[in-house]
Order: sequence, then C-alpha cells, then structure tokens
Amino acid sequence: MKIHEYQAKELLKEFGVPVPAGKLAYTPEEVKYYTKQLGGKAVIKAQVHAGGRGKAGGVKIAKSPEEAYEIAKQMIGMKLVTHQTGPEGKIVRKVLVEEAMEIVQELYLGMVIDRSASRIVIMASEAGGMEIEEVAAKTPEKIHKVYVDPAVGFSPYMGRKLGYDMGLDKDQVKKFTSFVSGLYNLFVAKDASLAEINPLVITGDGRLLALDAKINFDDNGLFR
Ligand code: ADP
Ligand code: MG
Repeated sequence: MKIHEYQAKELLKEFGVPVPAGKLAYTPEEVKYYTKQLGGKAVIKAQVHAGGRGKAGGVKIAKSPEEAYEIAKQMIGMKLVTHQTGPEGKIVRKVLVEEAMEIVQELYLGMVIDRSASRIVIMASEAGGMEIEEVAAKTPEKIHKVYVDPAVGFSPYMGRKLGYDMGLDKDQVKKFTSFVSGLYNLFVAKDASLAEINPLVITGDGRLLALDAKINFDDNGLFR
C-alpha cells in the first residue's frame, strides 16, 4: 500500500522526524488562505501517488497568496504526467501547501527490506534530489549503505557512519543520526516495506528536514 506525501509527513512528525510546516488543501481559496498563514510564500505540491512531480509541474513556488491561488487553480484538477505515472497521468485532487525552505544541500535517505539478507538496508547519498537509480548507475560510490540486524536494531554508530560517508560535519551528523533513528523506528513500528526521503535537506539555518517523503507498507502487516 502507498500513501501520499502529506500522510507520510504526518507519520514522520509523529516519530520525531522534522518536516516543513504544511497544510492539505482541496481548493484554490484554501491554498490562498494557508499561504497567507505561512507568511505569504509557499510551495504548492500535487498529492498524487507518483514521484517526478517537480519536473512535471507538480511542485511550484508561490511568492504571494494571489500567486498561490493562481497556481492552485491550474494544478487542482489537472492531469499530472510524470515519468512514474505512465502516459495516462494522474488527476490532482489535493495539494500540500508547504513552508518554502531555503535549501543549502539536498541529501538522500532510503530504507528497504533486503529479503535475501533478511535485513533492513539503510541507504544515504550526498547526491540527493536526483533519482537514486540514476545515482546508482552513474556514481555508485555516492551511495552509502548499512545493514541492520533486526534482532539488534538500529545503533547510532550506523547513522554516524552514513553521515561521515556523505561528508557531513559533526553537528550535521548528530542531527542526521537522530533523523535516521526516527525513520527507522517508524519503519519497524508501521511495517513499512520502503521509505524514501528525497530530498532530505540542510536548510540555511542549519536544520535537517524531510522535504519529500515516500513510504510504502507491507500489505501483510496492514491489519496492525
Ligand atoms: P518530486 O520528487 O515528486 O519531484 P519533491 O517533493 O522532491 O517532489 O520536490 C521537488 C523539488 O522541489 C525538491 O527537490 C526541492 O528542490 C523543491 N521543493 C520541494 N518542496 C519544497 C519546499 N517546501 N521548499 C523549497 N523547495 C521545495
Ligand atoms: Mg522527491
């Protein structure tokens, strides 16, 4: 089962993983109102079950509530075609109105279950914001991995290793480790089969935030 970005971000918040402030909206009027609440500037993001929205016109920055209204008018109801939707596209029914962040660096953080090793693999990369498949094909040395033994669980040294492998400084590594720990707890508690934060950003004021979030669940665990 897949969930939307805004739902994934609500879960992240629950597990102490920092996300930008945001509100879900169904109409241009709501989008305008929330943009005003966020200080007059916002990023408007189509909520569809597909990535690649940025390049397809599904992520737009509004510099005023009026501009947010116009963007929403165009985006809500549109058929968004990204490289992940297939040619038929997906109709946008709702949008996330989100605080516009000042991005200094874009990182990647992912978790999947490696069935052959019966382990959770945590992957991190300094090449965030790009498709991870593309990074794997072109610059595999930029993808760092650790395997977690479920019997032992996550240890902070794993976060520190990934953080230093990406070239983060000491303070960032500390924040990154707590970020990974929160995501790992969510992953295990909610029976996730995949979690992907792309990008995980470092902001102008030195915070680490999940700017995008994709979480899929193991259907066998849904009853829980
Ligand atoms: P997708 O992966 O579907 O293209 P993302 O949520 O990753 O969608 O957004 C695409 C890009 O838009 C990000 O890499 C980032 O550069 C920018 N972006 C997204 N959300 C924000 C935000 N809240 N503030 C500033 N920039 C953003
Ligand atoms: Mg993304």
